[in-house]
Amino acid sequence: MVLDAGHGGQDTGAHGPKGLKEKDAVLTLAKALANRLEEAGLQVSLTRSDDTFVPLWERAKLANEQGADLFVSLHLNAAKAKAARGSEVYFLSLSEGDEESEALARTENGAQEASPAGPGSVIDSILDDLSQKAFLEDSERLAVEVQRQLNRLAGIKERGVKQAPFVVLRSAAMPAVLVETAFISNPKEELKLKDAAFVDQVAQAIAKGVRSYLAGTQGSVKRRAESAR
Ligand SMILES: [Zn+2]
Repeated sequence: MVLDAGHGGQDTGAHGPKGLKEKDAVLTLAKALANRLEEAGLQVSLTRSDDTFVPLWERAKLANEQGADLFVSLHLNAAKAKAARGSEVYFLSLSEGDEESEALARTENGAQEASPAGPGSVIDSILDDLSQKAFLEDSERLAVEVQRQLNRLAGIKERGVKQAPFVVLRSAAMPAVLVETAFISNPKEELKLKDAAFVDQVAQAIAKGVRSYLAGTQGSVKRRAESAR
């Protein structure tokens, strides 16, 4: 499977009140999660393993080229309400969705505009690519399993999964989710994100969600992935 640490390089993502950068925090988490998944016997690769900028469209392409079975993109949420907390797990929405999720997708997709624009036609054809469409049900199940574990960790009961039009998920030809892991805008969550023990707890929760998703599939997704390629 492929783990995608959001942002990188000149694209810093969101900032915490004390200056923690999303691009750094999600890279630390991606590495911790890779360790946990590898311990569980899964093969993991990262879309970036250092502070480099990788265009959004290249991230799913990388996963497609590897024939990855899952794609998990890691991000941090930011909200005006300082008390907003906990994790939100998303899968792709083909429409614009509600105002809130659309605004979030616009923020996360912003990196696309900042990309060292390849030829317009490349970007256009990527935006036309909706390989993810064939995997939406699987992506939703993956999102539900990961959300369940993260809710448990945060002591949040009823938060469900959400959909938003994230560019990074569109062309992934495999079940794919985007995890807004915590609110970097919340001073308490920013502090926790600097704590390696907490980051590892989050990694363990996501890994557990991935494993229960995998335990519930019986090769059907893989067959669909092979026929979609
Ligand atoms: Zn982000």
